[in-house]
Amino acid sequence: MSARILVVDDIEANVRLLEAKLTAEYYEVLTASDGPTALAMAAAERPDIILLDVMMPGMDGFQVCRRLKDDPETRHVPVVLVTALDGRSDRVAGLEAGADDFLTKPIDDVMLFARVRSLTRLKAVIDELREREASGRRMGVIAGAASRLGGSGGRILIVDDNPRQAQRVCAELAIEHRPLVETDLEKALMTAKGPVDLVLVNTGAKAFDGLRFAAQVRSDEATRGVPILAVVDPDERQRIVKALEIGVNDILARPIDPGELAARAKTQIRRKRYTDYLRTNLDHSLELAVTDQLTGLHNRRYMQGQLEALMRRAGVGGEPVALLVIDIDHFKKINDSFGHDVGDEVLREFAVRLASNVRAIDLPVRHGGEEFVVVMPDTSLEDARRIAERIRLHVAGSPFRVMGGDELLSVTISIGVAASFGPADTSQGLLKRADEAVYEAKSRGRNRVIARAA
Ligand code: GH3
Ligand code: MG
Ligand code: MG
Repeated sequence: MSARILVVDDIEANVRLLEAKLTAEYYEVLTASDGPTALAMAAAERPDIILLDVMMPGMDGFQVCRRLKDDPETRHVPVVLVTALDGRSDRVAGLEAGADDFLTKPIDDVMLFARVRSLTRLKAVIDELREREASGRRMGVIAGAASRLGGSGGRILIVDDNPRQAQRVCAELAIEHRPLVETDLEKALMTAKGPVDLVLVNTGAKAFDGLRFAAQVRSDEATRGVPILAVVDPDERQRIVKALEIGVNDILARPIDPGELAARAKTQIRRKRYTDYLRTNLDHSLELAVTDQLTGLHNRRYMQGQLEALMRRAGVGGEPVALLVIDIDHFKKINDSFGHDVGDEVLREFAVRLASNVRAIDLPVRHGGEEFVVVMPDTSLEDARRIAERIRLHVAGSPFRVMGGDELLSVTISIGVAASFGPADTSQGLLKRADEAVYEAKSRGRNRVIARAA
């Protein structure tokens, strides 16, 4: 996969060297010798990756990086900071400035191409995602979910026979992720199917062949898509080359630098999530008719078909169906005080909170205006009430960020709960009971859940 790479360095010889190396591998190279020129080129030329020297007179690499990450037009372009050999503090500052990756001078070819390949793949999926969002075919929760697909909170499988190193890496990753350590290869392979977001394997392990393990993960149908980060000894060039041939996504040199570990894990997890997201959302035109445009939730029309099918099943001895009707409290005031657009923002944010607080089998729906419904198959009235209470707390518990974070709004909701009672019940009857319950919640002072027994 070819890519356009912007190389930024104040020393002409450094630029030329990188340019020669990258051009030889068929990358397209753009160059700049200072920060302001780099920013202008990033905006005008749309490179896929930026290799950015830290030490430059005037505007240094950190400042350039920060500016790139502040600008919505260039934020998504991966930035590799090129630091001095023992640039530990540079790395920390670089991470804070939003850098995606690091290279140390003098630049090693194998490392350079490992980084560039890894980030080119990331950029390719980001581009596809951006294109879809821009085309406006899917909006709201779905687009919102995509922009929220960060690189943190990942399940990371650490495969290492060195307990000290494994524990250190585990502790480091636990700051942002959910790591687990496995020393037995058979078990590790099972866990990798888990699913996990990233596998980190020690290729220098004594007790097992880490490269063979990486190859197994790469070839097994169930784990093929899982990114692999290989821990290598920087002196073992053969092994590094071999690891990249096998298809590990990136390499991490020993001794492991915590900042570097964090940055590489994040890049790989982000790419995996974007890719998964794209894969599960291929068929979007079909969904338009059944999807609410503002929030991305299903619409009333879709819900009616689903609810009726569930009620028929419940009527012939199937499991009960429960229903929540949720209405935002004093929503008109939000519109009146902050404008309709902020009202829309609140509806979208609410939809995100709602969708992330119901179970996979539940169906969250925008019923109309500021009223939402959740259809819950196989659910008793009491269980539905409990879930409703959880949703209520999740909304009232933390304010909504609107206007780009400038304003924090307290939002509360009232919820009516009802459940089907048998063959004589209908979807209209169920909806009516939940509606009456929400009305009662309003009249009793709002921000509460009322369950209506049949
Ligand atoms: P209550 O606590 O009794 O529910 O009060 P409320 O203000 O939330 O209820 P009311 O039904 O009086 O007002 C709902 C408002 O929601 C009125 C309507 O203009 C607004 N609304 C409906 N759909 C949308 C929308 O898509 N976007 C925005 N911004 N506002 C909407
Ligand atoms: Mg209302
Ligand atoms: Mg309302």
